[in-house]
Amino acid sequence: MLGPTRARVLRIRDRLRELYGIPRMAPHGRPLDELILTVLSQSTNDRNRDVAFLRLRERFGVSGPPAPPAQPIDYAAVLAAPVEDVEEAIRPGGISKVKSARIQAILAAIVAGARDSENPLSLEWMRDAPVSESRAYLCALPGVGRKTAACVLLFSYGLPDIPVDTHVSRVGTRLGLFRPGAPFEELHDQMLALTPPGHELEFHVNLLRHGRRTCHARKPACDECALARMCPSRQP
Ligand code: SF4
Repeated sequence: MLGPTRARVLRIRDRLRELYGIPRMAPHGRPLDELILTVLSQSTNDRNRDVAFLRLRERFGVSGPPAPPAQPIDYAAVLAAPVEDVEEAIRPGGISKVKSARIQAILAAIVAGARDSENPLSLEWMRDAPVSESRAYLCALPGVGRKTAACVLLFSYGLPDIPVDTHVSRVGTRLGLFRPGAPFEELHDQMLALTPPGHELEFHVNLLRHGRRTCHARKPACDECALARMCPSRQP
């Protein structure tokens, strides 16, 4: 299998860029929303996740239009509510009993380790903290792993971390970027080591797009894949 040299990674990035362009997604500045969204996304699709989030906002939304980047949800109210109320609000997202308990456990852990006594649920300190410190903090929260931590850091503040989801893992492994069978912790470390600084969002989004559109899990469309000539896993 071809080794994942930086030059090879750049060729893959460039080919993906020709196919999908450079994604433009400004950091939204709402880390707690991102954290809760990732909990809601577990074992469901994007649509059900978004419906569950909207219902949580309807049930626990802050009064009046929030000034960006303020959280649109009153998470202190989510924490204080009976867990059954949270469960009912997020029911369309599936396994709502588990997710509601997890959301409240995460919020309770954030309050317990609050860095801003006036706003104990604030995670704004991450904007200026070392990424390694923020990542370790997030991964210590109940049920939070590397992928969720990377989503929060990258999508909220544009910080250099990369979520490796099932698509990124599959496409990256087939392209020879990752060791087959490597655990997710290793995949995240490898992804960070390989990605040119400042290109984390582009590489993540375009690998994910390629996984959804061409490099399918069961039947990769190798005969129409623009990366076939550089892929050691292409099928005839
Ligand atoms: S050649 Fe096939 S296995 Fe390789 S990236 Fe393309 S679709 Fe995936």
